[in-house]
Amino acid sequence: MDVGYVVIGAGMAGLATARALADAGRDAVVVEARGRIGGRVYTPRIDRDSGRISTIGADPMWADGAGQTPVDLGASWIHGITGNPIAELARQYSIATAPGKNREPTFIGPDGARLPRKKLVGTLDRTLDRAATLAWAEPSDLSLSDAIARVRKTRDHRKGAALDLGLSWLSLIMGTDIDTLSARHWDQDDELGGGDVVFPGGYDHIPRALVNDLDIWLDSPVTEIARDGEHVRITTDSRTVSADAVIVTVPLGVLKARTISFVPDLPDKKWAAVDRLGVGLLNKIALVFAERFWPRQLEQVVVAPQREPDITGFSCVQTTEHPVLLAWLAGRTARLLEARSDSELADMAIHTVSRTLGRPAPDPAGVLVSRWASDPHSMGSYSYIPVGATGREYDHLAEPIRPWLYFAGEACHRAHPGTVHGAYLSGQEAAAAAMADEPDRPGYTISPRLT
Ligand SMILES: Cc1cc2nc3c(=O)[nH]c(=O)nc-3n(C[C@H](O)[C@H](O)[C@H](O)COP(=O)(O)OP(=O)(O)OC[C@H]3O[C@@H](n4cnc5c(N)ncnc54)[C@H](O)[C@@H]3O)c2cc1C
Repeated sequence: MDVGYVVIGAGMAGLATARALADAGRDAVVVEARGRIGGRVYTPRIDRDSGRISTIGADPMWADGAGQTPVDLGASWIHGITGNPIAELARQYSIATAPGKNREPTFIGPDGARLPRKKLVGTLDRTLDRAATLAWAEPSDLSLSDAIARVRKTRDHRKGAALDLGLSWLSLIMGTDIDTLSARHWDQDDELGGGDVVFPGGYDHIPRALVNDLDIWLDSPVTEIARDGEHVRITTDSRTVSADAVIVTVPLGVLKARTISFVPDLPDKKWAAVDRLGVGLLNKIALVFAERFWPRQLEQVVVAPQREPDITGFSCVQTTEHPVLLAWLAGRTARLLEARSDSELADMAIHTVSRTLGRPAPDPAGVLVSRWASDPHSMGSYSYIPVGATGREYDHLAEPIRPWLYFAGEACHRAHPGTVHGAYLSGQEAAAAAMADEPDRPGYTISPRLT
């Protein structure tokens, strides 16, 4: 089978690429490893009465049944609605959003007492500023934790515990331990303003809105991408397809694992970027309850660990009909706990919630757990800049091998890595670059769309 374009991966980057190609009249096939679209935007539904879990494949017409609670196990928020293309999509497709207060958690110290948020965040910000100044004065990069250790002023035990709590909040945000982050470059990305929002009906309404008439092959993991004369041959575990050009949008973790072979091999600069960037891990333990039992001021909580490994954060982010508490795990703790069973993890989460509230939490009606590191189609949650990397690697990862091989995905967007909007924008940019190169492809004619 011959097509104009093959897009590998039906996450936000892949769907944005395919949508842009299809809207410009190009024929494109999306080849996706999983039996569903959305990638790291993933919203299974849990039936509150039976506890049964359902997942939407690629059906844009699928509607939630009564008693079903959508739970976002991947992305939850549109981070900053101003100038954000995901907010624009939500408006365009009339997908409901609600304010998502994820910036003002309540901090609970090791003795169970609440710590003053403003003071704690102020100390954290000042410490991070001093760590950045120190990092730039050093002859070479060092880890954020080393830089912080050197600028930490306080010897006061209580203040030190408050700073540690702030740092565990940071590691939940970054999806990695702070000793892995570059002290110079860890926050080089651009934040969008306007506040964050969530999707009460589930984030997956966004990828589903993009599907429309796209030709998507599900359950088709790609194993090889090979230049074959003037064409590119894409091999999955069950078939092959030939295209004029390919856009690869698989996650950085999948590229690191060398799951797909490239013939000829990718340039050293590309592999260096793949290897230098880091892939973090953020996991969620979602507890679905019959009714809410926690006070509003304990909707977002960062709590000191009581043992290692332990849960250090939980929050109620989705304003669903059926209340959901998400317990958060990041970095090494998350990696370690992926081996535990759902019920062990649920017990841990319930214990943390009960300890924080000072009374036993009820049994949840349902439990959902993510394991993004052991998932062979993601192999981590999202990218970060480790010690020694600078952020330039994002640009190197995005560089096409003209005029036949293009790259997109959250780790290809230097300004907005690790986000849904970064993935979406990178997909649009890759599609535009691929179409601009069409005159350079020998024998290329714009073939009619297949669907
Ligand atoms: C727990 C968690 C919370 C997050 N929270 C937020 C948030 O609140 N806000 C935010 O903006 N971002 C958040 N993110 C990040 C955001 O989800 C991602 O940056 C974004 O969805 C990545 O999109 P992508 O298209 O680059 O990759 P993906 O969505 O991973 O898509 C890649 C696709 O490639 C497929 N694939 C893999 N291997 C193959 C293969 N061999 N052949 C064919 N297909 C293959 C995968 O199955 C997948 O569908 C979060 C991520 C996680 C994990």
